[in-house]
Amino acid sequence: MTIQWQPGQLDSDLTEAGFDTLAVRAGQRRGFEGEHGETIYTTSSYVFRDAAHAAASFAGDEPGNVYSRYTNPTVRTFEERLAALEGAEQAVATASGMSAIMATVMSFCSAGDQVLVSRSIFGATVSLFDKYFKRFGIQIDYITIDDLDAWRAACTDKTKLLFIESPSNPLAELADIRALSEVAQQAGALLVVDNCFCTPVLQKPLALGADIVIHSATKYIDGQGRCLGGAVAGSAEYMKEVLGFIRTAGPSMSPFNAWVFLKGLETLRLRMMAHCSSAMNLAQWLEQQPQVTRVYYAGLESHPQHELAKRQQENGFGAVVSFEVQGGKEAAWRFIDATRMISITANLGDTKTTITHPASTTHGRLSPEERSACGINDGLLRIAVGLEELTDIRADLQRGLAAV
Ligand SMILES: *Cc1c(COP(=O)(O)O)cnc(C)c1O
Repeated sequence: MTIQWQPGQLDSDLTEAGFDTLAVRAGQRRGFEGEHGETIYTTSSYVFRDAAHAAASFAGDEPGNVYSRYTNPTVRTFEERLAALEGAEQAVATASGMSAIMATVMSFCSAGDQVLVSRSIFGATVSLFDKYFKRFGIQIDYITIDDLDAWRAACTDKTKLLFIESPSNPLAELADIRALSEVAQQAGALLVVDNCFCTPVLQKPLALGADIVIHSATKYIDGQGRCLGGAVAGSAEYMKEVLGFIRTAGPSMSPFNAWVFLKGLETLRLRMMAHCSSAMNLAQWLEQQPQVTRVYYAGLESHPQHELAKRQQENGFGAVVSFEVQGGKEAAWRFIDATRMISITANLGDTKTTITHPASTTHGRLSPEERSACGINDGLLRIAVGLEELTDIRADLQRGLAAV
């Protein structure tokens, strides 16, 4: 007779399990109550059997929990489940997506090192690199995401990390992850991929040759706009460094947030497929509207890197769709103000569809020259497609178009 579960033990038969099974079951250890759902361990510290056990635990000679800045059972369940889905040996949870990026740089770079960063990158990530890491003597160079020769030429013997997001926000430009992983390897550097827009449902960077995956769990992993969190995933060797930084510096994930995220992982594929299906439909529809001059979405045949997207992504092309309307900023603002349902906010990865005008919000601090250099025109709008009825989202966008 096989025993299905034992207190404190992982289910033993998940080694061959597929993605959906891992999403629902990986990382769970039931307690002595035989509870079916995952437990939220709201405790900051842990007790020891005796003084010797305490000493051994602090010395790391015995496995087990010491303090929740180091490890927490609920957080560990989230980490193990995410690692299983990314195909990583290990994952380390963090308080936010930004602290996942900070932890990665702090773990692998010192003063005098160089980091190559894609030009098409989340705004706060640029600030973190420019305003803070530069101050500590780390050289930051920005490279055009799809210019492989430029990445190659920028590598020096000081290069420690290559940092990308693919597809990029808001213009859906792709990095060729496999090709960049070879560039990184030749330079003796690590390729770091922020996989927030795709999640492991659409893209598995480690399988494509990347060394480290970063997440803002705040977005699709939560999926319902409730909690802030992040994660770093990769080999056990690299994650040892990252955990070392997190447990010392302190941007750890709270157990409650970990529980929300691990429940989010259970429905991640179903949600991503629905997000992507509606996004594809709307991108194709927008492309046919006379007021729309251009649509940026890697799922469209018209996208210059559509073939690469098909090769390196699976299950869909993401849920962020950007498009330009005729008439510049005034027309774009009229569009936004004519919608009645879609939320006017820059957030994404929520059940609720959102709309934003990048030139005056996420990219508002750039000069007009800097904006046009990175392709952000005044008529550009970005939607992050949610899970409402497709016909209702389209009707709301139609109101916007009519006001252009
Ligand atoms: C939101 C976001 C982040 C930052 O995540 P937080 O959880 O808000 O700290 C990083 N990268 C990308 C691509 C994001 O969209």
